[in-house]
Amino acid sequence: MDPRQAVKPDPRRGLPSVDRLIREASGAASELPNWAVRAAAREAVEALRGELEAQGAAADTRGANAADGDVLGRAVADCLARAERLAKPSPRRVLNATGVVLHTNLGRAPLSRAAADAVQAAALSYSDLEMDLEQGGRGDRLAGVAQKLRLLSGAESAHVSNNNAAALLLVLDTLARDREVIVSRGELVEIGGSFRVPEIMQRAGVRLVEVGTTNRTHAEDYENAIGPQTALLLKVHRSNFEQKGFVAEVGLPALAAIGARAGLPVVDDLGSGTLVDLSDRGIPIEAFAPSRLTAGADVVCFSGDKLLGGPQAGILLGKQEIVERCRRNPLARALRLDKLGIAALDATLECLLDGRGEEEIPVLRRLLEPVASLEARARKLAGRLAKNHPAPLRFEVAKESAPVGGGSLPGFALETWVVEVSGAGSAERLAARLRRAETPVLARLRDGLLKIDLRTLEDDECAEVERMLDAALR
Ligand SMILES: *Cc1c(COP(=O)(O)O)cnc(C)c1O
Repeated sequence: MDPRQAVKPDPRRGLPSVDRLIREASGAASELPNWAVRAAAREAVEALRGELEAQGAAADTRGANAADGDVLGRAVADCLARAERLAKPSPRRVLNATGVVLHTNLGRAPLSRAAADAVQAAALSYSDLEMDLEQGGRGDRLAGVAQKLRLLSGAESAHVSNNNAAALLLVLDTLARDREVIVSRGELVEIGGSFRVPEIMQRAGVRLVEVGTTNRTHAEDYENAIGPQTALLLKVHRSNFEQKGFVAEVGLPALAAIGARAGLPVVDDLGSGTLVDLSDRGIPIEAFAPSRLTAGADVVCFSGDKLLGGPQAGILLGKQEIVERCRRNPLARALRLDKLGIAALDATLECLLDGRGEEEIPVLRRLLEPVASLEARARKLAGRLAKNHPAPLRFEVAKESAPVGGGSLPGFALETWVVEVSGAGSAERLAARLRRAETPVLARLRDGLLKIDLRTLEDDECAEVERMLDAALR
């Protein structure tokens, strides 16, 4: 028998108790909430136990007792770090210096002040959400937003669900359950966050009939696939990629003509849509949702928190008969928008109706800010940074382009101005420090440089970025 084995101490003996750890950690950082310290202490002891057990084989007569102080110190530090992370609110506010206006990982569209105020008002008190104040009876929770959507779009009817994936699911379930839906192979897309068109169709109990090839789909492909089981023709916007080269696609007007001849509805999943025509400002006309109805779609659906600049929501516009059937589908109850979302959407739509979208809706304001204004703001920020940070640090302005993001305008890049930070060592390391700053800053990394893009930063946010950079460069 190995003599060492007989005297080998249990490596877990030096493990502090959870209670002891809670006492030590609370004493060291009284500002941390109790619940977080307690949860963190349990986690820290568990982690330490695992660590000591893993080392167990290697541990010899070096008794755990000798290292007691050490182990406790490490456990307290680990516990405090964990408690701090636990105590942080989620989601946390961050500064978006990436220039990507609709950044899915950063929560897509920030709301306008008016929309945020409407959310607060709806959150803090009772409302007439489902009450008809005239008649004293039950009201329709979507009446207000549906009316504004009709006014903005000219659509016969409007419905809203909790997001666009839900809106599409609702249309498919309503019109095509147990029947066939025809889609081009070039449009069977996956959008970030695991939204895949074929999977949604499967979930809706719809049989997917793929037509054409990845790169080319022709009118005959749709025509030949139409049969007695066909319920509708679906067009899906390629939100996050572009096809170039030897490609062919059946445009919406042509598809609508095929649908009309066959007596089949055409559904257009636009993904990202606006309710103001921004084609004279460089935004493609296809993004204007009403233009899709004019082009022949019977129903169009799109997200509330992409180019529209409102809350997460799925907006359905189109023929009265179809939209009404969607609204009456029992599934609509499971997919409905909550009152805070309704309040935010209503305020966003009101702002658009009143023609204040560009000034007040952050997504539109950022998207439409002139390049000259971005340049001026970039020069100002670079100048201030250079004054506070001498060489070898350098802050240079440069013209760049950035995608709009959020699955909205693929292949469409906006000109923008950035401040490039160099001379601070590794750009990746600086970016990591900025991510962990008191107010996290997300910047762009390109060509080995850290770049602060002004398009997604308001003036007051620039001042904050400056402070976070000051701390990160210290
Ligand atoms: C973004 C997108 C969706 C999903 O919309 P959500 O509002 O995120 O659910 C669906 N279809 C297309 C084409 C999209 O671009």
